[in-house]
This record gives sequence, structure tokens and C-alpha cells, in this order.
Amino acid sequence: MQDLPSDRDALQALLDFHVEAGVDLALDETPHNRFAEPKAAPAQAKTPAKAPASKSNPPPSAPSPRALPKVAAGAPEEVASLAREQARHAQSLEELEGILAGFDGCALKFSAKNLAFADGNPQGRVMLVGEAPGADEDRIGKPFMGRSGQLLDRMLATIGLDRSQVYVANIVPWRPPGNRTPTPQEIAICKPFIARQIELASPEFVLCLGGPAAQNLLGIKDGILRTRGRWFTYKTEDGREIKALPTLHPAYLLRQPLQKRLGWRDFQALRRALDGRE
Ligand code: URA
Repeated sequence: MQDLPSDRDALQALLDFHVEAGVDLALDETPHNRFAEPKAAPAQAKTPAKAPASKSNPPPSAPSPRALPKVAAGAPEEVASLAREQARHAQSLEELEGILAGFDGCALKFSAKNLAFADGNPQGRVMLVGEAPGADEDRIGKPFMGRSGQLLDRMLATIGLDRSQVYVANIVPWRPPGNRTPTPQEIAICKPFIARQIELASPEFVLCLGGPAAQNLLGIKDGILRTRGRWFTYKTEDGREIKALPTLHPAYLLRQPLQKRLGWRDFQALRRALDGRE
């Protein structure tokens, strides 16, 4: 492994480079050279075999470069089915949050600082579902706390709503490192929990924020620009039907401000539905 530069500016530049590349998270105290050649196995000893280990003569402990997280082993489908089984057990949102906090099947849990389970009012008529927490949400432990959340709040305000009237969650409740997109496996493993969360909150309307939320909750393949603003039906496992509206993700609207007019239109459609005019 290369030596670290010793002067402050070079170190800062190296850090900036990593942050820009999305590496903004330390998984361990010390770096490990994953490219190092493994040491050749020692040649067969010609000397007499060592005495077997005993309590007074314990074997040298195996090098343990880092404590690996106890991610539930198994194929993603098996872990997803374990997730379904555990999620089904929850009889309240509090219970579901506790079960999720103790669930070790998703590796994202071990790089995240916090579980960002929900924010807002679970009794609200509207539930908003995004993709996954970012850095601010991870730090605070609640969804939509950063810049996207601030835009979301402004959009809600245009239709007379605030967080005390809506319930907010994500399809994946742990931050993917460097804000990368959650993998299909991570989504499949977390999906039973958000499905149960919707079932238990039982809102009248679900607003899917962005393509991944819309596609994964509604089982649709089309991109968000085709599906936004159209009403779909979300079916809970226990057979209830909830009206669901895909809309553009606030993070996308921050990058593409001209598209905000489409977002406003969708929020107006939600207002009309809440008023029984749609
Ligand atoms: N983006 C999301 O999809 N969810 C959050 O909680 C924050 C940003």
C-alpha cells in the first residue's frame, strides 16, 4: 500500500478526491490492502508436531483484521423470505421498527450510522415513500431530513400539508455507502418491511417519490417520466387497495429545476384526491 502523504494539503487533496468519488465512509480504523498477495502457506514442518493446544498453551489467535458484521447468511431470496416472515410478525409500527432494528439480513445496516425508519404522522391520510436515506437522514435517523426533505416540505406546504399530517418512509431504511443506488438484492430484502409499514400505517394515499419507489411498490417497469401523475392501485398483502401516485423525486427536482412544474402538478392532483375532487 502506498505511503500516505505527510503534508496537510496533500492529505486534504486525497480526502477530497475520495469524497468526490463517493468514498465518504470509513469501515474500519486502519486501512487494509485488499490487493496484497496472500502469504504463501508455510512449508510442511519437518520438526516434530507441536503439542496440542491446551488452556495453558492456547493456539495463536487467527489474525482478525476486522470484526465482520453478522449478516444473515444465505441467498438473497432466502434472506428476503426471512424478512417477510419477520415483517409479518409486527402488529404495530413500533414493533416493526424494533424488528427491523434487530434484523441483520441487509449489509447496509452495518455501514449505516442509524436506521431511518420513518418521520411524520403515521395516522396521516398520506404516506410518502422515497428510495433510501442520504447522509443527513443517516446522521439524524429519519427520512428526508436534508435538501431533498426541505424541498419536499415546501411542496407539501403548497397543498396545505406538513409533516404533522403525512407519514414519510423509504423502500430501504439504511443509507447505502456513498449514496449509491440500493442494489436489487438490497431492495428485495427490505421490501417486506416497507410493505408491512404501509399495511400497518394504512394510509388513504401513497405518494411514490421517484422511479425506484414507484417501480418496486407498484410492480411497474416504465420510468418515472411516463408514470408520474397517473393513479395506480397499491395492494397490501391483506388485500386492501390504496390509491398510489408516482411523482418525481425531490432530489431529481433539485438537479432539474425546470421539471418542478410537473412535481407541482402531481401535488395538485394529490390535493384534489384528498378533497374528493379526483
Ligand atoms: N432521498 C430519499 O429517497 N430518501 C431520503 O430519506 C432522503 C433522500
